[in-house]
Amino acid sequence: MKYDHILIRYGEISTKKRNRKIFVDRLKSHIKRALKDFESIQVEADRDRMYVYLNGTPHEEVVKRIHGIFGIQSFSPAFKIEKDAEAMKESILRYGESLKGRFTTFKISARRADKEFSYSTDEINHMLGGHLLRNLEGIKVDVKNPDLNIRVEVRQEAVFVTGEVIPGAGGLPVGSAGRAMLMLSGGIDSPVAGFLSLKRGIELECIHFHSPPFTSERSKQKVVDLTEKLSKVCGSIKLHVVPFTAIQELIQKQIPENYTMTSTRRLMLKVADRIRERNDGLAIITGESLGQVASQTLNSMYAINEVTATPVLRPLITMDKTEIMDIARDIETLDISNRPYEDCCTVFTPSNPKTKPKREKVNFYESFVDFESLIEEAVDNTEILTISAASSAEEDSGLF
Ligand code: ATP
Ligand code: MG
Repeated sequence: MKYDHILIRYGEISTKKRNRKIFVDRLKSHIKRALKDFESIQVEADRDRMYVYLNGTPHEEVVKRIHGIFGIQSFSPAFKIEKDAEAMKESILRYGESLKGRFTTFKISARRADKEFSYSTDEINHMLGGHLLRNLEGIKVDVKNPDLNIRVEVRQEAVFVTGEVIPGAGGLPVGSAGRAMLMLSGGIDSPVAGFLSLKRGIELECIHFHSPPFTSERSKQKVVDLTEKLSKVCGSIKLHVVPFTAIQELIQKQIPENYTMTSTRRLMLKVADRIRERNDGLAIITGESLGQVASQTLNSMYAINEVTATPVLRPLITMDKTEIMDIARDIETLDISNRPYEDCCTVFTPSNPKTKPKREKVNFYESFVDFESLIEEAVDNTEILTISAASSAEEDSGLF
């Protein structure tokens, strides 16, 4: 089937009233960016729908790219046919054949924008529906709840047909919800937390704590690769790589062993908050999930979170590990996360970290240590990388 354009439905954006234009403009710019290497494509938006005019570009690749863009509820490839009864019958039959096996019930929903057209909507419905029934086996009409609703719109210039409705990625356009910093380790959880945040429209910057020589270049590369995967839905993402060795060594030296993990987390959060402030972020995002490890008990979070009043978003907090892993697999970060290279936390993990650390105690221990100059130094020496999605289309999967 040679498609003419793709019709895009907004979903949740449609519920926005006053600021709908901002959402629509964002979505339009994401779609244009995703399709920028197809020169002849044009994108037009109105209040309720968006239209991607293919102008000869094959639709398959375009469909694949639209699939991963947040803010789209569903979309339908549309084709154009001549305004002639015989031509219409012929095209609808070919369309039905192309979807063979994917539907058993159908209906035709005709609309006539061109009132001069010599058939009424009922006549069009009967003519085209009857032609399909006579020529395709194993299908029947269901006007209430058909598998396939073939919409036939007769306009001045031609007749346009859409049928198949492809589910979009949902969510809201990236950037429509403001900017936040994702604390990105090399693990399974934080990239998933990043993905879900992007899905709700958050513009992400990533922060990674790196402790050479205890952690290797390869563990950093892992984080670069994870950021690259995430950037596929938004074009590019800034990655802040924080040199964390000096702070970790000082913690090891000065803080009692069963509190080093709590202190490490507090220091990470403090540094992340400084970087957030410098980059006009409004929140910090982590991959924490309740009860998963010692640092992820409510007692731990209570002790760690004390260092900042900035909102700390934890999109995975109530999810089970298996649910998180399913998403990681879908978004293709799981294999990268499973590479064996060590993380700065695993290297320094104490043998029996406190699962119920006390604020008073950690404050008391930290009161003997001057971390401030090291925090400043870490922030000043943070390396900033801009990671762009490798736009190679062939490695794009469904979701991205
Ligand atoms: P993940 O799978 O994301 O590594 P995790 O289950 O291993 O999470 P922790 O090691 O307790 O959990 O880390 C909790 C959260 O702290 C991570 O999800 C991440 O947001 C942040 N974090 C941990 N280590 C780092 C790091 N080296 N750099 C940046 N953020 C980190
Ligand atoms: Mg981890």
